[in-house]
Amino acid sequence: MPTLHLNVTMNNQYSYDIAYGSLPQGKHTFEFEVNDAFFRRFEGSEISEGQVSVHVDAEKTSNFMALQLGMEGSVKVACDRCLDEFFMPVDFEGTLTVCFSGDARDDDFSEDEVMNMKPGDTEVDLAQYIYESICLSLPMQRLHPNDDEGVSTCNKEMLAKLHELQEEAQRVKSENSPWSKLSAGSTAHSKA
Ligand SMILES: [Zn+2]
Repeated sequence: MPTLHLNVTMNNQYSYDIAYGSLPQGKHTFEFEVNDAFFRRFEGSEISEGQVSVHVDAEKTSNFMALQLGMEGSVKVACDRCLDEFFMPVDFEGTLTVCFSGDARDDDFSEDEVMNMKPGDTEVDLAQYIYESICLSLPMQRLHPNDDEGVSTCNKEMLAKLHELQEEAQRVKSENSPWSKLSAGSTAHSKA
């Protein structure tokens, strides 16, 4: 019979909080799952879907909590070449220091990112940090990968259509140039 008690370090899929207030000092681990609903929480997100596992190793002291985060999975993004969406792998590792007193500066913790909490706060929401880390881990240029034979897996129909649109745009642009207007005007004149 399945137990009704959830593992305390297994957070439900809609919460990305660590309730540090009630945590004893020492080491703890947390697992979070990021899913499509997660990305829909961020307005204007360029990621429409995704599945990412977030593993957090935490060490709490009296003043702060040091987090080591590992994120692995894949997210759906639009290809910069053919505009079709495809899944891109995510592989991110980062550190974050959650300072309880709220007065830490970045240079207090040389290489870490620091999140300042207000005195009296008891939990930290990692959703924004996780979202930004996933976005930052993606390359600037997002392109469908090549297949085993080195051929792009881009949507060929879409590329053909885009090529057509580009040519059309070129044509309209040259028709709207002052020179073509001039010649169109003179044609009209000669017709009249
Ligand atoms: Zn593509």
